[in-house]
Parts: sequence; structure tokens; C-alpha cells
Amino acid sequence: SDAVSIDDLVAWIRAFRDAVHRHKDELTRLDSEIGDADHGSNMARGLDAVVAALNPAPASASELFKTVGMTLVSSVGGASGPLYGTLFLRMGPALASDEVDAETLGAALRAGVDGVIARGKAELGDKTMIDALSPALDAWDAAASEGFAAAARAAAEAAARGRDATEPLVARKGRASYLGERSAGHLDPGATSATLLLEALRDTLAG
Ligand code: ADP
Ligand code: MG
Ligand code: MG
Repeated sequence: SDAVSIDDLVAWIRAFRDAVHRHKDELTRLDSEIGDADHGSNMARGLDAVVAALNPAPASASELFKTVGMTLVSSVGGASGPLYGTLFLRMGPALASDEVDAETLGAALRAGVDGVIARGKAELGDKTMIDALSPALDAWDAAASEGFAAAARAAAEAAARGRDATEPLVARKGRASYLGERSAGHLDPGATSATLLLEALRDTLAG
């Protein structure tokens, strides 16, 4: 049946790191408009540390995501470090079996995003990474029976729509919320990096 290997999951994380580097200036520009202009450098630094920590490659998916999450928590000072760290730390235990099918990876992503919500208390529409992640998970689940490639394609599209929908919103969480109404009219940086995460998964699983 359709299953991902540990090598696929490592390739996903590496592809996310590469995408963040390609979009580093854009992420920083978005954060300069409604934050403190460090989202690109925060994510790039954290993911460089992650890629360094993946050598030698972890033996299991749960070990992989534990390493990714712990490295992000310890190497990124901003809000995004503990939040992305929590996402990956919560994914690990949901991937304890050797056979990771599309439903299992969807359930792991859901456990991760539930952890981000528990930690950051953001709801849909608060103009955060949740606005990209939550719709992506729903799209993943709806397409999971069609296999990885279809699920990842649907999730990446939903994430991008969620990211775009943050533009008119007033931020209710994080630094951008300090701006009140002036936060409207800008894309959320974290929703933008979260879309890169789902796009990296789509590109890795496209086969
Ligand atoms: P900081 O705001 O500490 O400088 P970053 O700039 O790296 O951290 O990350 C900012 C991003 O973090 C925001 O664009 C938003 O998507 C996300 N974020 C901030 N607070 C929360 C929260 N409480 N819940 C979910 N996401 C959040
Ligand atoms: Mg910032
Ligand atoms: Mg900061």
C-alpha cells in the first residue's frame, strides 16, 4: 500500500529548510510590516540547526520529529520556535508504527496542530499560522483515502488559501496584535512559513 519511509520524512524537513531559505527575505519583510522583522532569520536559523541535528539520520519517525521539535524549541527565541517545536514534538508519538500511511500522517499533523493551539491559544481567524495549518489538515483528511500525493496537494492548496485569507484580518495573537487595526492589510508571516511546510510536503511526496 501507499506508505512513506523515514527517508521521505527527512527529505520533507530538508525541503522545508530549503524553502525557508529561498523565502527568508520575504518572511522577514512580512514580519517587518506587522512584527519585529525576524521571522525569516528565526526560521532559517532554527531549520539550519535542525538539518545539522539530522546527521546521522534518525532511525524512526518518532525519533526524527522529537529531534526536530527539540532543536526548534532550543534554537529559536521568537514565538515561532516553541510553536513549531510543539507541532513536531506532538507529531512524534503519533508516528510510533513503522508503516506510516496517509491517514496516520494526517492524524500526526492533527496532534501537532492541536498542540500549537493548546500552547498559543490561537483560533481560526486570529491571523496566525493556525489560519494556514487548520484548513490544510481538514483538506488532508478529506483527501487521505486517495493517498499521499492527493492529500498533500489538497493540504498545500488549502494552506495557501488560508495564508492569503490572513491579509485583511486584524491580528488577535502574537506581536502583530499590538498593532490592532493597523495589522490589517498584511499577510501573516507565520501563516506564510506554515504554507511553505505544507508545500514542501507536497513537493516531497509528489513522487
Ligand atoms: P516573534 O513574534 O516572537 O518575533 P516570529 O516572528 O518568529 O516570532 O513568529 C511570528 C509568527 O508566529 C506570527 O506571524 C504568527 O503566525 C505566529 N504566532 C504568534 N503568536 C502565536 C500564537 N499565540 N498562536 C499561533 N501562532 C502564533
Ligand atoms: Mg518576529
Ligand atoms: Mg522576535
